[in-house]
Amino acid sequence: MNTREQYLGNVKKLVVKVGSSTLTHPSGLLNFYKIEHIVRQLADLHNQGIKVILVSSGAIGAGLGKLRLKERPKTIPEKQAAAAVGQGVLMHTYEKLFAEYGQIVGQMLITREDLSSKKRVVNVQNTFSALLDNGIIPIVNENDATVVDEIKFGDNDTLSARVACLIEADLLILLSDIDGLYDSNPSTNKNAMLIHTVEEVNEKVINSAGGAGSKLGTGGMATKIKAATITTEQGISMVIANGEKQEVIQNILNFDNEGTLFIRKNK
Ligand code: ADP
Repeated sequence: MNTREQYLGNVKKLVVKVGSSTLTHPSGLLNFYKIEHIVRQLADLHNQGIKVILVSSGAIGAGLGKLRLKERPKTIPEKQAAAAVGQGVLMHTYEKLFAEYGQIVGQMLITREDLSSKKRVVNVQNTFSALLDNGIIPIVNENDATVVDEIKFGDNDTLSARVACLIEADLLILLSDIDGLYDSNPSTNKNAMLIHTVEEVNEKVINSAGGAGSKLGTGGMATKIKAATITTEQGISMVIANGEKQEVIQNILNFDNEGTLFIRKNK
């Protein structure tokens, strides 16, 4: 059995996070082709009996497009207004596309405060369980229209890691605009090499990470590595892969050497 088979076998509950850089064009408008591709893959996994949870960024990007703004607004209320418009656009798009495959989605908007007390955590867990037990695909995002910095996860990489732990997922996949984690930032170092397997999130791994590559990306690799720390500590493996590659999720589950695998700690 190779490493991939050992850590990616028998996935029954899967969290997939898609970043803004994958869901939106550089213009900020939604990239329907790529969204459709993600939806089709998830719908098919659902039909294979795998419970899937989608963590989707893109609300502010979708709002910018709808409001015909050329760049992110500067003030917090304006950003949040863009998110309020965009979250609706995003959900409408997902609902429509998943419905084409006969599937129902449920929106879960979460803030860090929702996970701050045992009672609230149990409440959120129960909602996820009820959605999944009823064959509904939860679509998760931070509640960008209401949160302020002090109570923010701040990025969906961390949020998706927390969700994966909360629902005891078998695997977290972060889909980005890049093939995986490189040994240094590929946008500044042309000789950077893709790392296929990370056995331990140590200082060397942390130091390889740079910031976001695109105008719409947020956390870059630093937040993805933080997500890996959270999940692997809880015994959940994580993969970073390129959301643009055809059938990338299925390929990961077929043990192809796709992206970067962060190996879970023994649990
Ligand atoms: P997303 O919207 O998918 O979360 P981000 O733009 O936040 O994407 O993060 C992905 C970007 O991180 C890449 O496009 C790349 O420019 C940048 N990056 C920085 N350091 C690294 C690294 N060591 N390996 C890969 N990508 C890196």
